[in-house]
Amino acid sequence: MKKKGLMDYLLKYKLSIAVYIISTLFENLSVVFIAILSAKAIEFVTITNYEHAINNFLLVLILILIRWGCRYLSNWIYFSTGGKIVSDLNSDLSKQSFKLSSKTYSDNSSGVFVERIINDPRELVSNLSELLYDATEILSSLVIITYVATLNYIICIILVTIIGICVAIDMWRQKVYEKNEIEVSEVEDEITSLATEIIKSERDIKSLGLEKSLSVIAKRKYEKNRKYNYKRDMTENKFWRAINLTAEIGYILMLILSIIFMEKSLITIVVFMIVYAYQDNIYRISTELGELSNILISIKIKCRRMFSLFNDDLFESEKFGYVQVDNIVGDIEFKNVSFSYKDYKIEKDKKTKNEIKALETETPVFKSLNLKIPHNKTVAFVGKSGSGKSTILGLLSKIYNVDSGEVLIDNYNIQSLNKESLRKTFSLVNQFPYIFDMSIKENLLMANKDASEEELQEVINQSYLDEFVFSLKEGINTRVGENGVKLSGGQKQRFAIARALLRKTPIILFDESTSSLDNIAQKEIKKSIDGLKGKSTIVIVAHRLSTIKDVDIIFFLDEGKIIDQGSFDELYDNNEKFKEMFLAENI
Ligand code: ADP
Repeated sequence: MKKKGLMDYLLKYKLSIAVYIISTLFENLSVVFIAILSAKAIEFVTITNYEHAINNFLLVLILILIRWGCRYLSNWIYFSTGGKIVSDLNSDLSKQSFKLSSKTYSDNSSGVFVERIINDPRELVSNLSELLYDATEILSSLVIITYVATLNYIICIILVTIIGICVAIDMWRQKVYEKNEIEVSEVEDEITSLATEIIKSERDIKSLGLEKSLSVIAKRKYEKNRKYNYKRDMTENKFWRAINLTAEIGYILMLILSIIFMEKSLITIVVFMIVYAYQDNIYRISTELGELSNILISIKIKCRRMFSLFNDDLFESEKFGYVQVDNIVGDIEFKNVSFSYKDYKIEKDKKTKNEIKALETETPVFKSLNLKIPHNKTVAFVGKSGSGKSTILGLLSKIYNVDSGEVLIDNYNIQSLNKESLRKTFSLVNQFPYIFDMSIKENLLMANKDASEEELQEVINQSYLDEFVFSLKEGINTRVGENGVKLSGGQKQRFAIARALLRKTPIILFDESTSSLDNIAQKEIKKSIDGLKGKSTIVIVAHRLSTIKDVDIIFFLDEGKIIDQGSFDELYDNNEKFKEMFLAENI
C-alpha cells in the first residue's frame, strides 16, 4: 500500500468537511453578531427607539435559529463523515497489519497494534472536530477583539497584551504536555497488551493459579498509568491556573478602565456591554489557543503513531520478489545460509530527533548451512532444544530472512518469488494453530473457499477428524469457539492439517507439538502425516523422535549445524548421540 498521510483520508470527504467548517464558523461567528445586535438593541431601548430595538431583537432571534441549524448540521456531519473517516483508517491500518512481517509482531506487544488500529483513529477524528470547532471559536473571539479595537484602542491594547502573556505561558506548557502525552500513550499500549494477554490466557491463569501474581502486575501497570495521567493533568492544571490568573487580572483591569472611560464618555454603553457580557468569550481565546495547541499535539502524536505502521524502518513489512511461478513441485535447498536473530530497540536520533531502530542483541543460529530436500519427500529436523529446528521453518516460510546465502524452492530463490507464488507454495501447521471462532466448515473454507462438500469430507477423513466431527450434534456446522477453545490440542493440530490439505500446496511445514499432546493424540497426528507421504514435500520439526520413525530423511542438528542425516534406522545404528536421545525419550 502506498504510504498514506492524514490528508489522503480527509480529502476524500472534502465537501462534507467544507460544509462542517462553514457551519461551525457560522455557529461561532453568530455569537459575535448576537452580542453586538443585543447590545445595540438595549442601547435603542435606553433611547426609547423601540422600533429599532424590536428589529434588532428579531435579527437576534433569526441568528439564534440559524445557529441551531448550523449546530445540527455540524453534529450530523461529525457523526456520519467522522465515522466514515474512522472506519477508513481502521480498515487501512488493519490491511497494513497483514503486511507486517512476523518479526515485527514478535518484536512488539499486541497493544501497540490494537491501540493504533482501533483507538487512535477514533481519538484522531474527535480531535479534528475539536480542532475545527476551537479554531472557529477563536476566530469569532478575534472578530470581537477587532470590533472592540475599532471602538476603543486602549482596551484593545490591554486585551492583546494579556492574550500575548497567556500565549507565552502556553507555549511553555505545550512542550511539557507533548512529553507527558507521549508517556501516557505508551503506558496505554502496555495496558491494552496486558489486558489482551490476560483475556487470551484465561485458562492458563486459572489452571496455574496466576490470578494473584497477574493482579499484582496489572495493578502495577494501572498504577503507572494513573501516575502518568496524574502527572500530565496536574502539570496542565498548574499552567491553566497561571493562564487563568493572568486573564482574570486582565479582565479586572479592563473593567476598571471601561468604567473610567464610560465616566469620561470615552466609550459608549455598547462597548461596555460587549466587554462585560462577553469577557468569557474574549478571555477564552487565551485558553482556547492552549487547547488548540493540545489538540494539534495530540493529532500529531496520533498521526505519527498510526502512520508509523507504514514506516518500514519502524514496523518492517514482508518483502516479496516479482517472479510468478505456477507449477512448483517442492524441491528445497539451503545454500550457504547464515542467519542470526537480531533485536532492536527504538531510540531517538540525536540529530534529527526521529525515532530509529538500533541493534541491541544478536543471536547467531546458522553459519553456512547447506541441505537439500527432494520434492515429495518427508523429512524431519531433530536435535536438542535451541539447535535451530524452528528457525529452519521460519526461514523456509520467510518469517525471517537469511543474512547471506539462499533458500531455494525448485531452484528459485524464495526472495525472488512474488506473494502469490510464495503463499501457494507453503502451508504451515503450527504447534498452536489458530482456529477462528466460526463453524468447522467455515474454518475449513477459509483455507479454500472453492472446496466442495466431498473435498471437505475427504480432508476430514485424511486428518482423522471424522469420528470427532461425526460425534458432534451439529457436525461440520459446529462452532469451535475463539481460537478453537472447544477443541483439544490434538484436534486443533489435526484441524490445521485438514486446512493445509485443502490448500493443496506442494510443501507442508509441520511444527510438531511438544509436550502438550498425549501419546494417543500424537499417534493420530502421525497417522495423518503418514497419509500425506509422497503427495507433498513435508518438513517436520520433530520434538519427539518416536513420531518420525517412518520419514525419508532425518536431519540431526546441533548448535546450528547438521551433524548427521539419514533414515531413522541408519541414525539409530550409527549415531550414538541420536540413539541416546531416542532412548532417553523412551525410558
Ligand atoms: P529449536 O527449535 O531447535 O528449539 P530455535 O530454532 O527455536 O531452536 O532456536 C535457535 C536459537 O535461536 C536458540 O538459541 C534460541 O534461543 C534463539 N532464538 C529463537 N527464536 C528467537 C527469537 N525470536 N529471537 C532471538 N533469539 C531466538
